Amino acid sequence: MPLLDALPFGKGVAFAALVGLVLGSFIATLVLRWPAGRSVLGRSHCDGCGRGLGGIELVPLLSAAILRGRCRTCGAAIDPFHWRVELGSALIGLFALSILPGTAGWLWALFGWMLLPLTLLDARHFWLPDRLSAALAVAGLLLAGPMLGTSLPDRWIGALAGGGLLALVAWAYRRSRGIEGMGGGDPKLVAAIGAWLGWQALPLMLLLASLGGILWAFVAQEKGDRPLGERPVPFGVFACTAAFVAVPIWPLIVQFQPG
Ligand SMILES: [Zn+2]
Repeated sequence: MPLLDALPFGKGVAFAALVGLVLGSFIATLVLRWPAGRSVLGRSHCDGCGRGLGGIELVPLLSAAILRGRCRTCGAAIDPFHWRVELGSALIGLFALSILPGTAGWLWALFGWMLLPLTLLDARHFWLPDRLSAALAVAGLLLAGPMLGTSLPDRWIGALAGGGLLALVAWAYRRSRGIEGMGGGDPKLVAAIGAWLGWQALPLMLLLASLGGILWAFVAQEKGDRPLGERPVPFGVFACTAAFVAVPIWPLIVQFQPG
């Protein structure tokens, strides 16, 4: 993408943050509406009085700051989830282009923006929609080469190995414990992540995801009301976060290999 590479560093970072802001507004709406079976497209309106939003009210982040999180007409509180996701999505763009300028950074940001709704839906609903995982997998196979310098076969192997491994773990768990230990969406998500990272960085991602899961288990145990074994684990949250974090770490590991 020579056009994006030509942007000077500061402008690239600012543009990515802006794109993240706009996408974040859409991602927040998607995550709030989709599980409720509401249409994701169409104009935003106040949940209190039903008035259609317009003008400044549609500007991400800024509207929450100016209107102090309330509807101008009825004063109903606007879910702070909106501005938090907008901010998070802007930060994904900002970090990605600050750390990896150019095409690799833009691909990393796109990876992050596609992982964000999966993370949020899994955290809130333990749901990893097949359609999002499929879109992630297709984008990874088609586009992700320059992100970590992987070939198309590397990413195909990553997808098949990642999905296969997780399906095997799920099967083994079911057999030994007699209960479902993993959501059905997890192997598909890890396959899609493999399509972005390639097989090389996949073990790093799985290691980071496991560490995240163990940390979460410690924290959950501290303030636990139910025994840990009976609580659903949002594995997708750890997998998505680990996948995003693994992108800048993997080249460092390759670089410091002896020889
Ligand atoms: Zn209202």
